[in-house]
Order: sequence, then C-alpha cells, then structure tokens
Amino acid sequence: MNIIQRVSPNWDARPSGTIVDTVVIHYTGMQTAAAALDRLCDASAKVSSHYLIDEDGTCYALVPDENRAWHSGVSSWRGVENVNHASIGIELVNPGHEFGYRAFPDAQIDRLLDLLTEIAKRHPIKPGNYIGHSDIAPDRKRDPGELFPWVQLAAAGFGLWSDKDGSSNKIIAKRDEISSACGSINKQLGAVGYAVADSLVYDRHLECALSAFQAHWRPSSVTGCFDEGTALILNDIALQIVQIGKK
Ligand SMILES: [Zn+2]
Repeated sequence: MNIIQRVSPNWDARPSGTIVDTVVIHYTGMQTAAAALDRLCDASAKVSSHYLIDEDGTCYALVPDENRAWHSGVSSWRGVENVNHASIGIELVNPGHEFGYRAFPDAQIDRLLDLLTEIAKRHPIKPGNYIGHSDIAPDRKRDPGELFPWVQLAAAGFGLWSDKDGSSNKIIAKRDEISSACGSINKQLGAVGYAVADSLVYDRHLECALSAFQAHWRPSSVTGCFDEGTALILNDIALQIVQIGKK
C-alpha cells in the first residue's frame, strides 16, 4: 500500500526484547489533518504515533514500527503499564468529541484495514489487544469513541466482538453502590484487560472503565451504567478472552 513518509522526532527505543503484540487506535481530536500532523511531528509536543490516516484514506508513517512512539501516555492494559512499550499507535483524523465528532468515512476505514493486514504480517498482535486509547486510559480519554466501527475490524479478523443482544438498558448496578455484583463487574473488566480495582465499590473509576467498554463493545448506548445489555456482552467478551488464553 502507498504510505507517505513524514518523519516525527518523537520516539525512543522499545525495551530490548519487546514483542509488539498490541494495536492502539486513536482519533486526532483536532480540527484539521494538517494541524494534527504538525503536532505529531513537533519535537516540543513530545507526542507521536506510528501512523496517521486521513479521512480520504491517505496514510502517513511517522515512526518506524521498531521504535516506540509516544501515543498512550499514562496507560495500562492486561497488567502492562505504559502501553507504548509493545504497541503500534494509529491516529485517525477526526475532530473528536471536542470539535465535532463524526463518523469515520469508508475510505479511512478501508485504508486502516489494509494497514492492519500489513501490521499483522509483521507482528503477532493478540486478538484481545486491538484496543482504543479509552480502553487503556479510561479516566482521561474518549478516543476513538462510539462511532469507531470495531465490529467491522473484528469481521476482518482484527479484535473481538460479541453477537449477544445488548439492547436492554435495565439497570443492574449503578454509581456509588457497594455489592458483590459490583465486585464481579470489576473482575470481568479486569479479565478483559481494563485496569480496575479488585473491589466491591462502583466508583468513578469503574464508571469510566464501563463507559470505555460500552464505547468499544456496546456503542449503541454509552452510559457508564451497568445494565442487562452490557452484562451479556461483558460476560461474552471476558469468556472469549479466557478461551483464547487456553489455546
Ligand atoms: Zn488518543
């Protein structure tokens, strides 16, 4: 595929022996692609990604895969702190929730699928490790958000999806509750990969992690409330992760 080289100075070496097994999807959250490219290549900004894909499908390579780009910030997934170490970061041009969040065009997603195909040939990306910035930093980040088509990625073989019926909004547990149900939500989110406490409390952190889970796997209704639809899907995704781990 045609990739335009646009070198960013913002990278360093991965820890020696690192196996790249994770892909993190972002949106740029800026008004234009040009502004995002400038920032990702500005040494004083100290941020970068490996790739950026514009809405028309134009793809830029900013940092070589073998180096560590700086896209995750404070982050955690499946017990790994600093997700930058072993991940590829991909920025998708989109104004984001701050400047007019909108659907990701087909041309952009088609190019992303091409890129993921290439990446999967070079690196053993784990099925449960195709994730969004909000999954690894749920208290701070909302990208790529509920309009990102994770279902399309999973259908192409990149990441997990659940076909369980997530339509019920009947509340099972809510904010500030302390119960064994909340304990099992924390356990299941932890099994999927989220950094949650082993606790019985439905605190702000659990609410953020649940919102991130919903934006990824139950995007029709992102509430931060634990309802029946979310329960069915969370249970299914956690089960899929366990089954993959046994293989
Ligand atoms: Zn991001």
